[in-house]
Amino acid sequence: MSECLFCKFVNHVIPTQVVYEDDHTFAFRDINPQAPTHILVVPRVHIENLATMEREHETLIGHLLWVCAELARREGIEADGYRVVLNTNRDAGQSVYHLHFHLLGGRHMTWPPG
Ligand code: 5GP
Ligand code: ZN
Repeated sequence: MSECLFCKFVNHVIPTQVVYEDDHTFAFRDINPQAPTHILVVPRVHIENLATMEREHETLIGHLLWVCAELARREGIEADGYRVVLNTNRDAGQSVYHLHFHLLGGRHMTWPPG
C-alpha cells in the first residue's frame, strides 16, 4: 500500500469529505480551505506532479479540468468566477506529492498570487 495520503483518500483507506468520484478522478474538500469553495481534484493513479506527467496522461489531465469546471457549476461559483491552481515543486509551495488541482471560488481573488 502506498504511503501517499491522497492515495489513501482515493482508495477509501482514510475517510475524507468526498464531493465527486468517477473511474479516473476523485475530488474532496481541502482540510484548510483558502476560499468558501476549496476542492482538491486528483487522479486515481499516483502521479507526483505536472513535472512527472507523461504524454499518456494528457487525456486524464484534461478530464480533471472538466471535473473542475463541472464542480464549479455545482458549487454555484461559475458566473462570479473561480481559480484552478496546480502547484509544482518547492517554489510553488507543493506540499503533497500526488498531483491535485485546487478549485477555489466564492470570494474575489487578487493577481498575481503570493
Ligand atoms: P499543495 O500545497 O501541495 O498544493 O496542496 C496540498 C493541499 O492539501 C493543501 O491545500 C492542504 O490544506 C491539503 N491537505 C493536506 N492534508 C490534508 C488532509 O489530510 N485532508 C484534506 N482534505 N486536505 C489536506
Ligand atoms: Zn498518491
